[in-house]
Amino acid sequence: MSYLVMALKYRPQVFEEIVGQDHITITLINAIKSKRIAHSYLFAGPRGTGKTTTARILAKSLNCAKGITPIPCNICDSCKEINLGRSIDVFEMDAASKSKVDDIRELIIEGVKYSPVRGKYKIYIIDEVQMLSPSAFDALLKTIEEPPKNVVFVFATTEPHEIPPTILSRCQRFDFRRVPFSDLVMTIEKIAEKEKIKIKEDAVFILARKADGSVRDALSLLDQVIAYGGKEIEKEVVEKILGIVDQQTLFELTDIIAKKDAQKGLALLSQLIDSGVDIQDFAKGFLDHLRNLLIAKVQKGSLETQAEQRLFDLSKEYIEKYKKESEKFSDTDILRMINIVADSAYILKRTSEPRVHLEIALMKMIKMEKNVLLEDVIHKLDYLFSGGLKKESENKSKDRHIEKLEKDDFSSKKADLSNLTEELSQKSSSSLNWDDIKSGWDRVLEWVKKSKVSLWPCLVEGKLASFEDGFINLLFYNGRQFHKQQLEKKDNFKLVQKALEQVYGSPVPIKFTLDTTKNAPSKNPRIKSNFDKEKIIQKDPLIKSLLENFEGEITEE
Ligand SMILES: [Zn+2]
Repeated sequence: MSYLVMALKYRPQVFEEIVGQDHITITLINAIKSKRIAHSYLFAGPRGTGKTTTARILAKSLNCAKGITPIPCNICDSCKEINLGRSIDVFEMDAASKSKVDDIRELIIEGVKYSPVRGKYKIYIIDEVQMLSPSAFDALLKTIEEPPKNVVFVFATTEPHEIPPTILSRCQRFDFRRVPFSDLVMTIEKIAEKEKIKIKEDAVFILARKADGSVRDALSLLDQVIAYGGKEIEKEVVEKILGIVDQQTLFELTDIIAKKDAQKGLALLSQLIDSGVDIQDFAKGFLDHLRNLLIAKVQKGSLETQAEQRLFDLSKEYIEKYKKESEKFSDTDILRMINIVADSAYILKRTSEPRVHLEIALMKMIKMEKNVLLEDVIHKLDYLFSGGLKKESENKSKDRHIEKLEKDDFSSKKADLSNLTEELSQKSSSSLNWDDIKSGWDRVLEWVKKSKVSLWPCLVEGKLASFEDGFINLLFYNGRQFHKQQLEKKDNFKLVQKALEQVYGSPVPIKFTLDTTKNAPSKNPRIKSNFDKEKIIQKDPLIKSLLENFEGEITEE
């Protein structure tokens, strides 16, 4: 029972121990030294970057028995209580679970009327503050407009843009950054040493890359590999435990793309999927791999300096490998591949047939240069998978290449789908069941996307809720009224009906209902940041500028 997870055990206790946020900690230390304490702070930034930890250290600095200090003692009663989350002057609340105006009234409006008990300050730390209801924000605003003496608010958020400007304008804002790769590596190594764990550098790199800027994630991943791997940790163990595709395989895949060997490509993909690799993780890993290729391609001269190596987040050996591999492609090729993978990563998140989409993406990359033919193939595949198989196979395709593709690479899937389509078309809508509807839904989405791409996002926002009395019920949550209205427009509605008929083999009535009791789920910022193409591009100024330069090439894909 004495085992304490690393993230807790090594939680920073003073500002200096906070990793990768010097721009914030130095400012706070100086403010504390000169006793210029703001009434309200906003700590914005991705999860796991140290917002709450910093807030607690700030609280200790203000209330330490030594007096206001940039280096809290961590041994006085006040410091100890804050560390344990038990201080009577420091209040932590999570706005995700307490978002109502009554919560704010009870905890804050009433609370600030009384002076701090032990320390000099009352400190309110509100996590995920953007989740407060509008009336809760109003109530809060009144308090922070005329803050009582000796009260300090720290608002932490992963979504600062969702906070009302009236609140924002009254806060001193600090933006927490994703922790740089090299800092994560150093942190993992330091802690492994303290724990007397031998961990290979390659293995540390994998953990740091997977942690994606979050110290907390890095440490819980370390917990995970120690739990399985014991005291000596090799790269292979980490890859296995985390289900990561090793670098070697990624190189193999780009080799195959360079050689345009479709058969081998699909075989490798199938081997990967069968080995239990998470498809979304794989897509992200491959995207990183392509990014490295691109950097290797455009990087002139050697990669000697540390700063240059950091671009890669990789050991030296791999940098050389990337430089060699990149010679097989033009930079336009690599950009196109990045574009294809980023697009399919977006779809992979939403589809129930990720394997098919991954295969399509791979084929796109392999057939890249023959643009016209490629479009045909993709269109044809989409058509096949969207249920038009029967009709299409009656028309003899004149394109030998496409025929070959079907025969060799997709024959098994074709058979599966052929059965399914026939099965569906034999059923009238009344004999369709809920499972039929669910399993065909992705193809409905695909069909709509192909026919009218602007309508697709609206349909995606709907939640397939039920199939009763022959009606499909698509549910829209609060905040998605617009999407619902778009779908109800006459032409759009017709299109959706057509899609349903195509996929399910006969007309299936559909209705759209609005559920105002629930808010549309806010998208998980982490997953989103992994796969949102815009974000990937924003994060990477190099790719951004290249994409801008090659715009013509990219949009054509
Ligand atoms: Zn103290």
